[in-house]
Amino acid sequence: MGSIVLNSNEKIILHIGIDDTDSNEGMCTTYLTHIIIEQLKEHNIYPDDLPRLIRLNPFARYKTRGNGALSFRVTLNSRSQVELVENIVLENVEKYSMFEGVNTNPGVIFYEGEITDEMREYAVNAIYSIYTIGYAENFAKKIGARVHKFKKGRGIIGAIASISIDLSDETFECLAYRTPENIGTKRKLNQDSIYDMNEKTYPETFDNIDIEGNYTAIEPHTPCPVLYGIRGNTPEIVEQAHKMVESYEEIEGYCIFRTNQHTDMHIQEGVNISDMNINSCYKIQCKVTKNPHDIEGGHVFFEVSDDTGILECAAFEPTKTFRNIIRKLRVGDELILYGGLNENKTFNIEKFKLISLAPQYNILNPVCSCGKRMKSAGKNKGYKCPKCGNKTSSEDKIKELIPRDISEGFYEVPTEARRHLSKPIVRMK
Ligand code: ATP
Repeated sequence: MGSIVLNSNEKIILHIGIDDTDSNEGMCTTYLTHIIIEQLKEHNIYPDDLPRLIRLNPFARYKTRGNGALSFRVTLNSRSQVELVENIVLENVEKYSMFEGVNTNPGVIFYEGEITDEMREYAVNAIYSIYTIGYAENFAKKIGARVHKFKKGRGIIGAIASISIDLSDETFECLAYRTPENIGTKRKLNQDSIYDMNEKTYPETFDNIDIEGNYTAIEPHTPCPVLYGIRGNTPEIVEQAHKMVESYEEIEGYCIFRTNQHTDMHIQEGVNISDMNINSCYKIQCKVTKNPHDIEGGHVFFEVSDDTGILECAAFEPTKTFRNIIRKLRVGDELILYGGLNENKTFNIEKFKLISLAPQYNILNPVCSCGKRMKSAGKNKGYKCPKCGNKTSSEDKIKELIPRDISEGFYEVPTEARRHLSKPIVRMK
């Protein structure tokens, strides 16, 4: 069939969304997107913009790692080009998806035209709440998108969100990929070059090094095709930084993604404790009502409240030295907490701002003029000095201010424990 060529003002804008193609055993939907884009270039079809890597609700139950969904947009001249693009996308999803993974349920969405307000709203709620596959499928039908489900097709939930989301704040990630024969082996990078890159580009790039653990954080620890990923504020800086990293193994290629990583897009503001829902993330102003205490497993728990309710909070074991900061909080301290409410209704803290420290006192017996601490002389009999025998008739104790080993300001979990969506303090303006 000959291709129908549209006139120049009848171009077709095609959005492509892909999700849930990988498993813990391998692959990465970013890599699949990169392969597809490279193949499209062979047909002289180029994305209108950088592909997007969109992180969705961190509490989504079936996520592999960071609940990322991928998308890109192309502008096409003919229906046959649309067919070509869709075929290339679907062939590659079929070829590369980890179908044997129990929780790998790929989904692909093709949508033509402009993104609407209801699509933007769907996307924000895919970060704030939990959707079912059925809800996503009905939504896709309603907006006239073409849906392709593989196995259960859960990926359509994220695929729709990825094409639809509006990025008011954004960051960029440059992902470098390994050649097939190296996938699964130890990554071979010149570690010094990563420290050097960090020195030259931080804070425009970030999360390169886990300062606390003194190791490089750009390499994943899974058998996926990613050699490393560099995150930063502009496409230019992440590309420059990528070129500074020395690899001892061949790099198959690299791709820069526009992302909502490190923007705090998951954090809902203006919500009281009593209105919080499980599996959602919030910023709340509160006061400490129970001092921190350690529980089995190395987790640190404490309690806060606002005018509407009480909330149990936790710094879990993987947050490492962040727990030492949490241990210093005391009843009455005023905080702004950022984090998420898990299914046990525990608020998992990502970062916090200590607004004010409540003075803490030791309540003690008075000191005698001889310098010795006095002892009680018996009920309603005041105090007596055990050294010189001096007596006081007053029952009053004295308050001694306890120096605090923490000051007002922002505190966050270390790089390795940070959620992809969490805005690092270095990006807080
Ligand atoms: P990686 O980070 O390696 O790309 P992942 O953590 O993104 O992996 P996926 O394999 O994409 O994990 O699986 C996440 C699944 O959760 C997808 O099927 C996606 O559609 C779905 N999902 C995303 N957001 C939601 C949500 N708000 N509610 C329910 N399911 C969701």
